[in-house]
Amino acid sequence: MRALVTGGSRGIGRATAKIFRDNGYEVITPTRNELDLSSKSSIEAYISAHKDEPLDTLVNNAGINDLAFIEDANDAVIERMFEVDLMGPIRLLRGFIPSLRKSDIGRIVNIGSIWAAVSKPGRGLYSAAKRGLHGITNALACEVAEDGVLVNTICPGFTATELTIQNNTPAEIKELERLIPLGRMADPEEIAKAVYYFGSKENTYITGQKILVDGGYTIK
Ligand code: NAP
Repeated sequence: MRALVTGGSRGIGRATAKIFRDNGYEVITPTRNELDLSSKSSIEAYISAHKDEPLDTLVNNAGINDLAFIEDANDAVIERMFEVDLMGPIRLLRGFIPSLRKSDIGRIVNIGSIWAAVSKPGRGLYSAAKRGLHGITNALACEVAEDGVLVNTICPGFTATELTIQNNTPAEIKELERLIPLGRMADPEEIAKAVYYFGSKENTYITGQKILVDGGYTIK
């Protein structure tokens, strides 16, 4: 079995690649030099080089979260957010769906965010891009169901990765943890466990869903 995991160099992507490997998958984690989601030509080159290889699981994990208030966001910031977090994943899906249809257990997991379900100042572009993945997940789940391909989006809450540390001061993290019913951030491995479930033969009947793995943050 073969899985392609984007953004496998660290954080949730690295933990996801590990759990698939531990379960016997051959896992491909392209570096940014091999696949740059902000570059249409890089994505096209990657797809044309690999589209004939077998593929059972695609995890659209790589993402950025550049904070910007809407009234301050210039075109470059807007375009970069949508290129990396939405357009790139769509282009990869388009390129690899034919391979996933041929698999006996084709599975797609998009990595969304709680900020698609709720939002806060500075997260508008990120929320919009991640929310866009929900629309893709809904439609695509219907489009590929005939070939047994299941499509879901895992929406992590606060997870102890570089991205979180970059976007929150230590004091903010402490305050956030107070707001999470389980009282702490997730470890990347806890998100990866959910990704593995939905991205492998463990899941046989759930498709088109957006699953929040957030320690209860959004229920309050
Ligand atoms: P991270 O630690 O910042 O890692 C991001 C990964 O994405 C890295 O492997 C990075 O590669 C890759 N990447 C960034 N820009 C790229 C580009 N243009 N082309 C190709 N790869 C690129 O992030 P993370 O916290 O693990 O987050 C992973 C996913 O979970 C993201 O989609 C994020 O939005 C989502 N998420 C995270 C949290 C959280 O609390 N951490 C919460 C909700 C959702 P390089 O090594 O080359 O930089």
